[in-house]
Amino acid sequence: MTSPILSINDAVKTYGSIRALDQVNLDVAEGEFLTLLGPSGSGKTTLLSAIAGFIKMDGGSLTLRSEDITNRPPEHRDFGMVFQGYALFPTMTVRENVGFPLKVRKKPAAEIQKKVNDALEMVQMGAFADRMPSQLSGGQQQRIALARAMSFSPQVLLLDEPLSALDKKLRADLQWELKALHNQLGVTFIYVTHDQDEALSMSDRIIILKDGSIQQQGDPNTLYNRPRNKFVADFLGKSNFIDVTVGAQTGTTLQCAAKGVAFNVETDTHNAAGSDVKLALRPERLKLGAPGEEFLPAVVKQVSYLGERCQVIVKHETLGEMLISCPTWKTDITPVAGLAVSIGWDPDAPVVLSED
Ligand code: ADP
Ligand code: MG
Repeated sequence: MTSPILSINDAVKTYGSIRALDQVNLDVAEGEFLTLLGPSGSGKTTLLSAIAGFIKMDGGSLTLRSEDITNRPPEHRDFGMVFQGYALFPTMTVRENVGFPLKVRKKPAAEIQKKVNDALEMVQMGAFADRMPSQLSGGQQQRIALARAMSFSPQVLLLDEPLSALDKKLRADLQWELKALHNQLGVTFIYVTHDQDEALSMSDRIIILKDGSIQQQGDPNTLYNRPRNKFVADFLGKSNFIDVTVGAQTGTTLQCAAKGVAFNVETDTHNAAGSDVKLALRPERLKLGAPGEEFLPAVVKQVSYLGERCQVIVKHETLGEMLISCPTWKTDITPVAGLAVSIGWDPDAPVVLSED
């Protein structure tokens, strides 16, 4: 990364016996869309609040363009913020809300007017300038919150689950809009969500948090296809897990044995003969065939129809249950409970996980 706009170094924050941040190190690149993803309680809001300056860290430092801002008060960090519960001021009009950060910064009235208009245009809410927040829908209110956060042209925008209160369809629309806005403005976004799909669809880079520490970081494609450990493989999308014993590894080919089933896996990891490893296998990488077509016999236990895909739980005699995701528009067999089938996968489909 060419010199990061923001660096978090060894950040620690404890609440009693809880380590909300446990030695977090993170560099944020200028202009990137960075997402903090993790389950509830994993430390996402704490990390964002530490960056914003709302909470004081117990240890660690923060630099903005190489300048130490660890002890700088929030109002002098100049970050735009859209927080989950950070509602609009109910007694101010939309225009007054959006102009508020500029007024606090004592900008001249003419400049405030222009910037407010620009910010409202940006979120396509120009026609709503004189309304009160209570006269807007939830999605419109979030648009205004975004305009308010952007009105003073901050260099970094911090967003804590800004879409989580909205219904699914509206959330999807606003995801596209936010992403387009990010591309258009080139501002650095640090975005918090617990929604895996949202993280995958919007981010340049995702940081996966658990118990206050970073589990893995990378672009969405890398994280989805090369999860490092079981937590990531399970949290980001769905996975089947197979415990295997390594027979031998020849180059990138790993001979695996799992409960009487032998197969090869292509991997760039190195594994000692005789070691036990866990494999993750994505449901869409499993193939479903007529009996004998693929290499393992199985029986369909349950089918769930989801429109463009269906999810099928099959059971193999020794490996147990596996989840398969099949496109509904090109299946050779129609899976129904009780049907005898066969399952298989390509050698590059399983991912070898690390232990922790
Ligand atoms: P997330 O945003 O990922 O859901 P948080 O950052 O809010 O998680 O919380 C991380 C952990 O710190 C949780 O265990 C939470 O209960 C705890 N925590 C956060 N804020 C406080 C606080 N003010 N007092 C005590 N515990 C807190
Ligand atoms: Mg939170």
